[in-house]
Parts: sequence; structure tokens; C-alpha cells
Amino acid sequence: MVKYDFSGKVALVTGAASGMGLATVRAFCASGASVVMADIRQDILFREANALRAKGYNVKTALCDVSDEEQVRHMIEETVRECGQLDAAYNNAGIQSPIAETADASSEEFERVSAINLRGVWNCMKYELQQMRLQKSGAIVNCSSLGGLVGIAGRGVYHATKHGVLGLTKSAALEYAARGIQINAVCPGIIRTPMVEDMLNSEPEAMDELMKLQPIGRLGEAEEIARAVLWLCSSDASFVTGQALAVDGGYTIQ
Ligand code: NAD
Repeated sequence: MVKYDFSGKVALVTGAASGMGLATVRAFCASGASVVMADIRQDILFREANALRAKGYNVKTALCDVSDEEQVRHMIEETVRECGQLDAAYNNAGIQSPIAETADASSEEFERVSAINLRGVWNCMKYELQQMRLQKSGAIVNCSSLGGLVGIAGRGVYHATKHGVLGLTKSAALEYAARGIQINAVCPGIIRTPMVEDMLNSEPEAMDELMKLQPIGRLGEAEEIARAVLWLCSSDASFVTGQALAVDGGYTIQ
């Protein structure tokens, strides 16, 4: 496996206590970064952070709801105060929304999912970029989805938020391209995480249909997304910005 060298670098990951966020934290740690792990779930956040510290890695925790701008501002201020800089950020925190056709979806659900998946990414980018533009360096990766690239019946609310993440990514990438900051998005396919385990349990028929459309014939693993995120944050991706990188076993090329 390619190992990137992030020694001396500081990485921030949101939604860091589970799934792809946690896999990315582990990958950054293994590559030498100091990592700030942000999540709303204190129990698993502290447990996973302690497990990494026991292995000698330098991790800090931040209890932060990304939908709350004030909490995000505080988290990033604390990161810079304690670590001195912010080199890489993976804005990964997100939630799924139950299947509902557009005529039946509730406004409360639209607000709930948008607040985390879309405004949460915007909140994080805003304060990360305030620091990165001072430094004149940095890399941001936003978590979109195959749902940012295509539609699926019954998934309009979630897919709208993930399309929106790509709009934020591309516009900000243009703003900062000449200022040493690269901003990209990763678009995971169906990845084996607690979020997908929940969907497999609660929506088995819809998930069976989705599995038939996987050209690669299997679910993705969280580590396969983590490797893409680290590449996008590394100097190997120094000419890559504003991209929506599909890591989806071929789902969106059909
Ligand atoms: P997961 O449920 O395993 O992990 C998500 C983490 O985000 C959890 O630890 C949760 O506590 C945290 N979180 C939720 N709301 C938060 C908030 N308001 N503030 C801070 N943290 C919060 O999910 P996952 O599958 O690893 O998903 C990670 C990201 O990947 C999400 O944005 C999701 O939409 C996206 N995604 C997932 C898949 C998939 O197949 N699993 C596919 C495409 C995109």
C-alpha cells in the first residue's frame, strides 16, 4: 500500500468516530499526521481516540455538531490554537434520509438532512479556509456521494445535499486555486459502514436493487475511500482541484 508522508501536518476529520471518517483518521495517523477527530457521538469518539493514542498516535477530539456554525468556528479555532496550523480537512460528517418520493417528503426532513450534509460542509469550509488562506496552503476534501452525481428515485433530499456539496467544492476551488489551496470532493459508492448496515437492515428490498447495479459486484470498504482522501490531500495530487472523484466500483459510469 502507498504510504503518504503527513509528518508535521495537521488533519481534521468530521464524522470521525465511525465508518469512512474513522478509516480516514486511521490512515492519516499511519501516515504521520496529527489528527483532530470531530463528531457528535462522545462515547465512540472517545473510545476510538483512546485506541489510537494507545498505539502512540497524536489525536485530539472535538465534540462538534457540524450543522452549528458556532460549534464549527470554535472547533477550528481550537485546532489552530492547539496545533498551530491546519493542513488537511476531510469534511465527511453526514446522514442518510429514509426513502420517500418527492411528493411525500417532509420539510422537516429536508431541513434536517440539509443542515448536516450541506450547511455542515459549508460551515466547515468557511472556517477551514479562513485559516488556510492565512497559511496560503491546505487541502480540503468534501464527502459527496454517488448521490452527488446521479439521481435515485426516492432519494431526492439526500441527493440534493450531495449535489450541493459539489457546487460548494467547485466554486471554492476556483476561488483558492491560485492561493495554494486545493479543494476536491470524493463520491463514494455503496461502502460497508454502519450507515449502510442500517440501510441493509431497514430497506432490504431497495438495497437488493442497488446491489444489482454494482459493476464490481461487492460493497466498497471504508479504507478504499480513506486512500482516495489521502491521495487528494497529498502532494501527489498537486494539480488536482475542484474534482468530484467517484470511488464507486463503476456505479456511475453505467
Ligand atoms: P457513519 O454513519 O458510519 O458515520 C458518520 C459519522 O458522522 C458518525 O460517527 C456520526 O456520529 C457523525 N455525525 C453525524 N451527524 C453529525 C453532525 N451533525 N456533526 C458531526 N458528526 C456527525 O457513515 P459513513 O457511511 O461513514 O458516512 C460518512 C459520509 O459518507 C457521509 O457524509 C455519507 O453521506 C457519505 N456517504 C456514505 C456512503 C456509504 O455507502 N456508506 C456512500 C456515499 C456517501
